[in-house]
Amino acid sequence: MLFVSSRPYRSILTGLALFAGALFANKSTAQQKELYSYRDLSHKYYAAKKDSLKKNWTCPAVYKEKATQKKYKEYWEDRTDYITGAMERRCFIYEKEVQAYIDGIVTELMRANPKLIPKKPLLLIDRSSAVNAYSTGSDVLIVNLGLVTFANTREELAFVLAHELSHNMLRHSDNFMKERAEWFTSDEYKESMSSVLDSKYGRYSRLMKIYEGYTFSRSRHSRYHEGEADSLAVVMLKSSNIAFDPNFLLRLDSVDVQYKQPLKQPVKNYFASYNLPFDDWWVQKKSKGLSTRAYNFKDTTGIEDSLKTHPDCKLRYATVKKQGSMDKNWTSIPSAIHSKASRILIWNLFDDNMLTTCLYRVFMEKDKGNTDVWYNFMMHNVLGGLVYADNRLNRFNAVGVLKKEYISKDYYELQNMLEQMPKEPMEQYYNASRKAAFWSQMSEDAVAFKQLLHDVIKETDDKELSAALKTFSGKHGSSMYNEFTDHFTNK
Ligand SMILES: [Zn+2]
Repeated sequence: MLFVSSRPYRSILTGLALFAGALFANKSTAQQKELYSYRDLSHKYYAAKKDSLKKNWTCPAVYKEKATQKKYKEYWEDRTDYITGAMERRCFIYEKEVQAYIDGIVTELMRANPKLIPKKPLLLIDRSSAVNAYSTGSDVLIVNLGLVTFANTREELAFVLAHELSHNMLRHSDNFMKERAEWFTSDEYKESMSSVLDSKYGRYSRLMKIYEGYTFSRSRHSRYHEGEADSLAVVMLKSSNIAFDPNFLLRLDSVDVQYKQPLKQPVKNYFASYNLPFDDWWVQKKSKGLSTRAYNFKDTTGIEDSLKTHPDCKLRYATVKKQGSMDKNWTSIPSAIHSKASRILIWNLFDDNMLTTCLYRVFMEKDKGNTDVWYNFMMHNVLGGLVYADNRLNRFNAVGVLKKEYISKDYYELQNMLEQMPKEPMEQYYNASRKAAFWSQMSEDAVAFKQLLHDVIKETDDKELSAALKTFSGKHGSSMYNEFTDHFTNK
């Protein structure tokens, strides 16, 4: 991964020493501060806003043709439902510092381009780990935390924000809804549909042809839109005096292979501080035939464009590369922002029961020399989550197997380990982690969460479990970890 090689790392030895030191650290006076509060999750934070959004987003009357207007309104309302639904599903988070940082960039762009951006967009921070941002039209701008952790500089974030604002400016998504409404109510579409329905043979393939023609012109169209948004973004950056690095587009080319980034140490080393036996076969996939044998992990140089969600990055780079800033004045994203974004992401991956991805990200942080004990806490949660899933014969699901094309050899080994490690050592690791020294540095709610997780794992009877959940919610209702209780209480 490109973003890794561009960052300075401590040597492996220092990293290892720091890691071991972190797990068995002496009592520290510094207690972990709460990362965010339960009410910062979008279903709480945007609860009131959601209804006013629904009211204010009225579909404009554009078409005299009733059917077309009706279709347009349908798409319009789908979009509103999509955003308010995502708020209810707590896809977004309002974390003050991250929000303020991104908002600062948006404000700067807006002030320098009052004609292009006359109205401040609604900025939403999505907890997704996918490296992306998107605009939905109607002045909504959504930034994924995956992008915040991926970007190295403020200028890189500014480029993506300017690009998305440009989509809004150029009304790309509004026009898309209009085109769809027009096409699906057009005579041409109706005629081709009725001829398909009338035909006795090959209805399905004829139907596919109608849609294929449509999606083909769409994808050509969207490539053009990307170029348009890039060009306008560069203009916005220039008038804001924000430097532009076209190489970022090339970096974006690798976002779908984030977990191709190898670890700094063998998987085994990350478990060394538990001082427990580690069997090497856990990380090796037991071959069930020939299929697993021939896979070559050494070739990480390229991945087929067809696997990517951003196949046009190289093309986009070629178009704007001449407009890059010569006076390179890059501003690193503050480490506090990176660290917050990364922790919010990691918790969310755990809460979504994506245990391998969660743990891999923890290890990637340790590789950076990050000694924050919070990551040990998350490693504990993953071990607990694994025991819980195993007790319910649901381990495979919790491991969340990713395809080999997308992952490094180390990721593959960790995935194998979580899948194959026998129950007994798994519980030994979990129990050792319960007694580790880092707990003395954890916040009260995290320590209470350790007990809750343990009660959930034991789950001997429903009454005891619901009492444990109630105790936690009662004492730590404002804690971010309270989100976990929602899985059992259907909130
Ligand atoms: Zn775009």
